[in-house]
Amino acid sequence: MRLVIIGAGFAGMYAALSAARLRDIQGVSPEELEIALVAPEPTLVVRPRLYEPKPETLTAPLQDVLKAIDVVYVQGSAETVDTKSRAVQIVTAKGAKKSLSYDRLIVATGSRLFRPNIPGLADHAFSVDGLNDAIALDRHLHQLASLPISEMRDTVVVVGGGFTGIEAATGMPSRLRTILGKDAKPRVIIVDRNEAIAPDMGAGARPLIEAALRNVGVETRLGASVASLDNSGVTLSSGEHIESATVIWAAGMRAAPLTAQIPAERDSFGRLLVDRDLRVLSVDRVFATGDAARAACDNVGNYSLMSCQHATRMGAFAGNNAAAELLGVATRRYHQEAYVTCLDLGEAGALFTRGWERKVEMVGDQAKKTKREINTVWIYPPRAERAAALASADPEHVTEV
Ligand SMILES: Cc1cc2nc3c(=O)[nH]c(=O)nc-3n(C[C@H](O)[C@H](O)[C@H](O)COP(=O)(O)OP(=O)(O)OC[C@H]3O[C@@H](n4cnc5c(N)ncnc54)[C@H](O)[C@@H]3O)c2cc1C
Repeated sequence: MRLVIIGAGFAGMYAALSAARLRDIQGVSPEELEIALVAPEPTLVVRPRLYEPKPETLTAPLQDVLKAIDVVYVQGSAETVDTKSRAVQIVTAKGAKKSLSYDRLIVATGSRLFRPNIPGLADHAFSVDGLNDAIALDRHLHQLASLPISEMRDTVVVVGGGFTGIEAATGMPSRLRTILGKDAKPRVIIVDRNEAIAPDMGAGARPLIEAALRNVGVETRLGASVASLDNSGVTLSSGEHIESATVIWAAGMRAAPLTAQIPAERDSFGRLLVDRDLRVLSVDRVFATGDAARAACDNVGNYSLMSCQHATRMGAFAGNNAAAELLGVATRRYHQEAYVTCLDLGEAGALFTRGWERKVEMVGDQAKKTKREINTVWIYPPRAERAAALASADPEHVTEV
């Protein structure tokens, strides 16, 4: 029997760990149940940190931990999925194609930035979405130091006033000062078509975010959308042109394209609709998890968000349940009642909220300490030691906050 997991992000990593844990508990050998993880690299990209400096350091190796738990790493990118013949076509880094059949499949292909068809966007916008994007932005910021001081050089426009945009923007003034020196006059502007910043954060947290933006010197243009970009900056729908050498696009996510190959219903973000066991509705033997899936988190109407917090726990349930079906044991219903947010606000510290109503629990330095711990400890893979790695993936205990 073979369980194939596509994607080595937070969801795919925990799916592999959790499936291996159940196989171990049931006393089944890796020969009887093969668990194969398909991904372009055996590496976890620590996406939630990609707004930070030194993005090239923000990965964690997975090969040793996968080896320790007897999960087979298959190098490549899944190009097609045939749910009738139950096979995944994989293209390797060298361009070779191979096919992998499955008895159960877990789609854990995550998400990517949504780039609408706006003139100049493809050529002139940076992002902090993937590792290469963040490295390209960092290189560009360092190259600015070789240019003469000008308002355009020192101005960064961040499009999108959600979590990612706020984290990219609030960290930028100090990052620019470090790179460009004390004579620079960093100007950072968030543009968002909504009338309020951080639309998801609610009325309790928003004034604190607004104060933090003022504190670190980030301006906003709200109720404004981007009409076009060129090498001199961005033009807004109002006609205003902001001269800027750096535009960072951070306005919206979509599920990775592979989800479109599964013949099932998807939401407006392209996420596959799944049941409480994280099985894709109406497609036999296929599970979806993390940013690739939309799942009910509880019985009161909350649904998973595209977040590391949800991806990790959903991954553990999907891995457990796909393996449970193959091993003939009971599945476990996914549930995630607890929900917290921890938003980095640059030199203004951070903001920590609890619950779906986003009740503010910590601000400033105290919240920043928690953010640092989340970003440097909590979201990293477990140690490459078999017992510890398997124990880390009990679905009931993953991402309990
Ligand atoms: C700048 C930034 C800040 C963020 N901050 C936070 C935060 O503070 N808190 C939070 O909870 N979340 C945050 N997030 C969101 C979080 O990073 C995502 O929700 C999380 O990464 C989702 O995990 P995942 O495993 O579902 O997908 P991903 O992490 O996207 O991983 C998907 C994996 O699938 C692989 N893959 C994709 N397609 C294929 C294919 N066809 N074949 C093989 N492999 C494939 C990819 O290479 C990747 O390894 C942030 C994201 C960004 C970009």
